[in-house]
Amino acid sequence: MTDRPRSAPMPAALRAGRPPRHPALTIRCPHCTAAEGARCTTRSGRVTKTDPHPARQAAHAIATAVCPTCQVGLGTPCHDNGIQRPDSNPVHNARYTEAGRPAA
Ligand SMILES: [Zn+2]
Ligand SMILES: [Zn+2]
Repeated sequence: MTDRPRSAPMPAALRAGRPPRHPALTIRCPHCTAAEGARCTTRSGRVTKTDPHPARQAAHAIATAVCPTCQVGLGTPCHDNGIQRPDSNPVHNARYTEAGRPAA
Protein backbone atom coordinates (compact mmCIF):
# COMPACT_ATOMS: atom_id res chain seq x y z
CA MET A 1 0.00 0.00 0.00
CA THR A 2 1.50 3.28 -1.07
CA ASP A 3 -1.63 5.40 -0.92
CA ARG A 4 -1.84 7.87 1.89
CA PRO A 5 -5.38 9.24 1.83
CA ARG A 6 -4.82 11.35 4.90
CA SER A 7 -2.48 13.68 3.03
CA ALA A 8 -4.29 13.68 -0.32
CA PRO A 9 -5.37 17.20 -1.24
CA MET A 10 -8.81 17.64 -2.76
CA PRO A 11 -8.77 20.92 -4.70
CA ALA A 12 -11.47 19.77 -7.10
CA ALA A 13 -13.87 19.01 -4.28
CA LEU A 14 -13.14 22.33 -2.65
CA ARG A 15 -14.16 24.16 -5.82
CA ALA A 16 -17.32 22.19 -6.43
CA GLY A 17 -20.32 23.75 -4.81
CA ARG A 18 -18.70 24.78 -1.55
CA PRO A 19 -19.40 28.29 -0.32
CA PRO A 20 -16.45 30.57 -1.05
CA ARG A 21 -13.97 30.97 1.75
CA HIS A 22 -13.52 34.36 3.29
CA PRO A 23 -11.09 36.31 1.10
CA ALA A 24 -9.06 37.34 4.14
CA LEU A 25 -7.94 33.71 4.50
CA THR A 26 -5.55 34.29 1.60
CA ILE A 27 -3.18 36.16 3.90
CA ARG A 28 -1.50 35.26 7.17
CA CYS A 29 -3.37 36.46 10.24
CA PRO A 30 -1.46 39.15 12.13
CA HIS A 31 -3.51 38.42 15.24
CA CYS A 32 -3.31 34.65 15.72
CA THR A 33 -0.62 33.97 13.09
CA ALA A 34 -2.79 31.48 11.18
CA ALA A 35 -1.03 30.69 7.90
CA GLU A 36 -2.30 31.60 4.45
CA GLY A 37 -5.38 29.53 3.66
CA ALA A 38 -5.84 28.39 7.26
CA ARG A 39 -8.67 29.45 9.50
CA CYS A 40 -8.00 31.62 12.51
CA THR A 41 -7.50 29.97 15.86
CA THR A 42 -8.24 31.04 19.40
CA ARG A 43 -5.60 31.49 22.06
CA SER A 44 -6.21 27.91 23.17
CA GLY A 45 -5.50 26.68 19.64
CA ARG A 46 -9.05 25.89 18.60
CA VAL A 47 -10.09 26.74 15.04
CA THR A 48 -12.66 29.51 14.99
CA LYS A 49 -15.98 28.86 13.28
CA THR A 50 -16.66 32.51 12.67
CA ASP A 51 -15.11 35.06 10.34
CA PRO A 52 -11.36 35.66 10.40
CA HIS A 53 -10.07 37.99 13.10
CA PRO A 54 -10.87 41.67 12.46
CA ALA A 55 -7.15 42.43 12.26
CA ARG A 56 -6.83 39.88 9.47
CA GLN A 57 -9.76 41.30 7.56
CA ALA A 58 -8.29 44.77 7.93
CA ALA A 59 -4.82 43.67 6.83
CA HIS A 60 -6.32 41.91 3.83
CA ALA A 61 -8.39 44.92 2.81
CA ILE A 62 -5.38 47.19 3.15
CA ALA A 63 -3.17 44.86 1.13
CA THR A 64 -5.58 44.09 -1.70
CA ALA A 65 -7.96 47.01 -2.16
CA VAL A 66 -7.79 50.74 -2.64
CA CYS A 67 -10.20 52.54 -0.37
CA PRO A 68 -13.24 54.06 -2.08
CA THR A 69 -13.83 56.29 0.94
CA CYS A 70 -10.46 57.90 1.70
CA GLN A 71 -8.79 57.06 -1.64
CA VAL A 72 -5.61 55.52 -0.20
CA GLY A 73 -3.76 52.99 -2.34
CA LEU A 74 -2.73 49.38 -1.80
CA GLY A 75 -0.78 48.82 1.39
CA THR A 76 -1.75 52.16 2.94
CA PRO A 77 -3.99 52.20 6.01
CA CYS A 78 -7.18 54.25 5.93
CA HIS A 79 -7.41 57.70 7.44
CA ASP A 80 -10.05 60.30 8.22
CA ASN A 81 -8.96 63.64 6.79
CA GLY A 82 -5.33 62.77 7.44
CA ILE A 83 -5.92 61.36 10.92
CA GLN A 84 -5.12 57.70 11.44
CA ARG A 85 -8.13 55.59 12.30
CA PRO A 86 -8.31 53.66 15.62
CA ASP A 87 -6.94 50.12 15.79
CA SER A 88 -10.40 48.88 16.65
CA ASN A 89 -11.74 50.07 13.30
CA PRO A 90 -8.76 50.78 11.03
CA VAL A 91 -10.44 50.35 7.65
CA HIS A 92 -13.46 52.01 6.08
CA ASN A 93 -16.40 49.68 5.52
CA ALA A 94 -16.41 50.25 1.78
CA ARG A 95 -12.85 48.99 1.57
CA TYR A 96 -13.84 45.62 3.03
CA THR A 97 -16.45 45.33 0.31
CA GLU A 98 -13.89 46.37 -2.29
CA ALA A 99 -11.58 43.61 -1.01
CA GLY A 100 -14.27 41.02 -1.63
CA ARG A 101 -15.81 40.49 1.77
CA PRO A 102 -19.02 38.50 1.46
CA ALA A 103 -22.10 40.60 2.06
CA ALA A 104 -23.25 40.22 5.65
ZN1 LIG B 1 -6.62 35.17 13.28
ZN1 LIG C 1 -10.49 54.35 3.77
